Amino acid sequence: MTSLAVQNLNPDVLIIGGGINGIGIARELAFRGVSVILAEKNDLCSGTSSQSSKLVHGGIRYLEHGDFSLVADACRERYFLTQVAPHLVSVQPFILPIYRDDKRRPWMIRIGLFLYELLALHRGLGHNHMMKVSDALLTEPLLRSEGLIGAAEYFDGKMDDARLGIELAMQARSLGAQILTYTPVVECQSLPVPSATLDIDGTLVTINPKVIVNAGGPWADQILAMTGRQGDRILRPTQGIHLVTRPLVSTHALLISAASDNRVLFVIPHGGYSIVGTTDTPYSGDPNSVRAGADDIRYLVSEIERVFNIKIVPSDIYATFAGLRPLVNSTQDNPAAMSRDHHLIRHTDTFFSIIGGKYTTFRSMSEDVARAVMHSLGVPFSKSTRELKLPQGPSPTVEYCIDYEFARHVTDYLRRRTDAFFRQGNGLDILESVARIFGEKLGWTEGQVAEEMKSYRDQVQLMHTEIEQAWE
Ligand SMILES: Cc1cc2nc3c(=O)[nH]c(=O)nc-3n(C[C@H](O)[C@H](O)[C@H](O)COP(=O)(O)OP(=O)(O)OC[C@H]3O[C@@H](n4cnc5c(N)ncnc54)[C@H](O)[C@@H]3O)c2cc1C
Repeated sequence: MTSLAVQNLNPDVLIIGGGINGIGIARELAFRGVSVILAEKNDLCSGTSSQSSKLVHGGIRYLEHGDFSLVADACRERYFLTQVAPHLVSVQPFILPIYRDDKRRPWMIRIGLFLYELLALHRGLGHNHMMKVSDALLTEPLLRSEGLIGAAEYFDGKMDDARLGIELAMQARSLGAQILTYTPVVECQSLPVPSATLDIDGTLVTINPKVIVNAGGPWADQILAMTGRQGDRILRPTQGIHLVTRPLVSTHALLISAASDNRVLFVIPHGGYSIVGTTDTPYSGDPNSVRAGADDIRYLVSEIERVFNIKIVPSDIYATFAGLRPLVNSTQDNPAAMSRDHHLIRHTDTFFSIIGGKYTTFRSMSEDVARAVMHSLGVPFSKSTRELKLPQGPSPTVEYCIDYEFARHVTDYLRRRTDAFFRQGNGLDILESVARIFGEKLGWTEGQVAEEMKSYRDQVQLMHTEIEQAWE
């Protein structure tokens, strides 16, 4: 994206961060005719928004913490997402196996299922019910039968997180938003008037929006610090990692209780592989350096081996991925019990931060932000995006992704426009042909093509080294 492509240097609103929240807010504002620039320092959804468990869910486990309004909101949004983006969000049946030594007893599960369906009102995705052990084993034969005393079936949604975010960004652009990727905001001030400096292809461009929204997710504190608010720590991030494994389940996802700490874990079928996750570990390091380390991998592997009664070897793990939950700084000690609700912070009338929340609830959260921003702008707020359909595009060729889907690097295509990175072999077989198309379209030299290929190979190599280390 070159500086010439920036059409309006003084928009009503600058959004910093192109994760699902920034994209959602840009879409809400553009839908209502507000001029908006979204600046993302990397690729769209390259932060937390491509590292989720890829569930569009009400969050059954939050019932244990009494987060009923969050669950009700998430169930409602879950339903609307299946309606407006059926090509990216589908219904996923779950089995919840109950073992003799599980702390969550069958009667608790029964109450949970009832509440989960109740909170969805008439917008549930299926009828939750207890099922026979024999039916559970017939459905997912790899499940360990020893000690299995019951099972339940319930329904949630599943998505491709990065692709959903990217298609929403395309929709925001078609509604008038300017979406600038690989454009870090390097300076930002909120007083006396909002201004920000963007690094657009190496050129520093200062803009004067009327309002700035910090949607930096795990980087929100760093963005806040640019405005001179070093003391204001609004985040307490936790890290979550996932394993991408050979297929362990066929049609149903599993919700299991970890034996070591009673945490809830998921095993989710995704075509040719399964996704297993996640962890929830407090994280205070650099948000750019998050990755799946050996301890976290070992923890998930031992839980898989317990639930499936199988031995996992490194070659069973096709990939790992890791992300940070941008949770709100609170006094809660147990990371799993920290609120997943979103918080909109109005630092001044013209500078807002949005943190927390779930991917699933991005739309309702973005609507809250748009309402507050438009109030500051003195513009009336109206209409809802609830039923705004997300059009299905053509199947994403490399050329199409470069021309229309903001892809600028080989990894953008292999990790976030397609799931090649997560499949067995990590897409190395198509790497060269993909890199050559990028090279031709973007005018790269031979050296740049080689550098892109090396950088991708290095990513894959490092990931597999870390996987191997979990067995040492
Ligand atoms: C392990 C894990 C599993 C999860 N699973 C689920 C799930 O299954 N379902 C669900 O609903 N939710 C899930 N979530 C929650 C959900 O993924 C997050 O709430 C959501 O993705 C956060 O989005 P965000 O836009 O706030 O942050 P991000 O996606 O991290 O976006 C912030 C963006 O800001 C950009 N940025 C930072 N600094 C600058 C700057 N100076 N200039 C420009 N850009 C900048 C970053 O590059 C980044 O792209 C999960 C979260 C985690 C960590």
